[in-house]
Amino acid sequence: MKLVQFWRGDTAALGIQTERGIVDVQAEGARRGLPAPTDMMQAIQEGEELWARLAGLAQGAECFIDAPLAPVLTGTDRIFCIGLNYRQHAKECNLPIPPAPVLFNKFRNALSAHGDCVTLPPEYKEYDYEAELVLVMGKAARNVSEAEALDYVFGCTCGNDLSTRDLQFLRGGQWVLSKTFDGFAPLGPCLVPAGELDPNNLDISSTVNGETRQNSNTSDMIFTPAQIIADLSRHFTLLPGDLIFTGTPQGVMHGYPADQKNWLKPGDRVEITIQGIGTLATTFR
Ligand code: ZN
Repeated sequence: MKLVQFWRGDTAALGIQTERGIVDVQAEGARRGLPAPTDMMQAIQEGEELWARLAGLAQGAECFIDAPLAPVLTGTDRIFCIGLNYRQHAKECNLPIPPAPVLFNKFRNALSAHGDCVTLPPEYKEYDYEAELVLVMGKAARNVSEAEALDYVFGCTCGNDLSTRDLQFLRGGQWVLSKTFDGFAPLGPCLVPAGELDPNNLDISSTVNGETRQNSNTSDMIFTPAQIIADLSRHFTLLPGDLIFTGTPQGVMHGYPADQKNWLKPGDRVEITIQGIGTLATTFR
């Protein structure tokens, strides 16, 4: 099953992507007199009965919607990101393999949707893409073991950890400021339930204007999704709706030789594709 959020005016609403189009979950529920979650955050709160209920709504649906997509999840400021989490990416950055997950974060102003156009502020130059598998937490997790960690995940989606390299290195190497400009966390196009994917073995790639830049597999991660969740949950409680960007594979522009650098610029189009999920497209102005 593929869940999306779409814009109903200023409000993000829940949809189910089907071969016939996007089912408007709220309208379909109302038509049949059935309870239905209004958005992704509410869907997460519903627990295990959710999937059967949504499958029932999708079957024989009559209420379809054609509206711009919203970010797959909205309404959270808890956007955790893991840095340097692919072996080949650490290598291209000339950095050692970290002994434990390296954590930074973004904020909700950074969320943007599939198909959005994101502004590159003119005061900086070195804009970079990072294809990432994003985990959406389904349940509160505190001190969970690696073996049970994936049971706490609601679903997976694609993310682009957009980064401003000149700012990143101008300020003593801190990452937050350079990565949380408005729209700098594209998320989508859809969410796939955690039980339908093996997050440890997914092809992940990115293109810029159709040219392949990253082409890897999540099996190159240094810390697996389960290890990341177990580690974070040893330090603080992860909450339903938390987003975890799990790091990017090799092929970011930052890793290219100095004479071949070609930073993102207005007019460019970046596509992030993850096996079993889909393609997240972002353009720039
Ligand atoms: Zn990243």
